[in-house]
Amino acid sequence: MLSIYNQKFMSSVLPGQLDPWRVVDNRAIVAGRLPLSSLPRLRGLLLDATSDVRFRLGFSRDEARRAVLHCEVATTLKLRCQRCLEALDYKVNADTWLALVSSIDEERLLPERYDPLLVDEGSIRPRDLIEDELLLALPQIPMHEPVMCAWQILDVDVARMRSGKESPFAVLAALERGR
Ligand SMILES: [Zn+2]
Repeated sequence: MLSIYNQKFMSSVLPGQLDPWRVVDNRAIVAGRLPLSSLPRLRGLLLDATSDVRFRLGFSRDEARRAVLHCEVATTLKLRCQRCLEALDYKVNADTWLALVSSIDEERLLPERYDPLLVDEGSIRPRDLIEDELLLALPQIPMHEPVMCAWQILDVDVARMRSGKESPFAVLAALERGR
């Protein structure tokens, strides 16, 4: 039976668990899509979890024979702008190089370009890894670009009103029309 542990195997089915030490020499690739609704830690932080995340996990060894994993995730997350409280589309295109380590001591020896991936008990859960990458990509305070933010647009109108260039009634009428 074909499995991810075979030579040069490429899978679009995400295994629940896998032994990364066994797949780095095969240069295994797991790529596909996962519904955001299947990621419990992320789901609660989203306004809407109906879309998918595209992922690609590429296992290999680097020039120093280190076991490494290139993890790529891409999606658009629906968040709430913390300024105007309206919905915000947040694009994520994250690309991380992880080096497999079996102890904290090994982490200290890694070159800077790698983040450590501690493999305890001999396996990793790819779904957790993808979810971790998305959680790390979240902005601390989600906010629209100033020109896109409803709050900012209102703020500009108030400033114009204060400067006397526009009557308060004209501003209010414009706001009413914008509803
Ligand atoms: Zn906003």
